[in-house]
Amino acid sequence: MNKKELPLIIATITYLILLVMCLLMLFICIPLEVTGIEYLIIIFMAVLIIGYLVVALIRMNTYVYKCPHCESFNRMNFIEVLFSKRGNNERKLKCKTCKLTQYMERYLK
Ligand SMILES: [Zn+2]
Repeated sequence: MNKKELPLIIATITYLILLVMCLLMLFICIPLEVTGIEYLIIIFMAVLIIGYLVVALIRMNTYVYKCPHCESFNRMNFIEVLFSKRGNNERKLKCKTCKLTQYMERYLK
């Protein structure tokens, strides 16, 4: 593990803990028929979406991807972080220099 990956790992773990806590709250509150359960569900959805976006944003700033064709390094944009196909240690991205779309290997920035 590299030091530069630390914020990403911390953010991911925090996100997972928050999700588990929200789920637990829901499982406790639904049988009790507590009032305001709809707010709890809204908070849960907000945590789910915002957390995912924050993790994506940090991931975007942690890694660069090397184009195998022209060997230039590419940063992902926000859409690519969320939707690009991912392999084990690579992603299918469009190179900003040569405009080819292909699998690129991941490097730390
Ligand atoms: Zn290229």
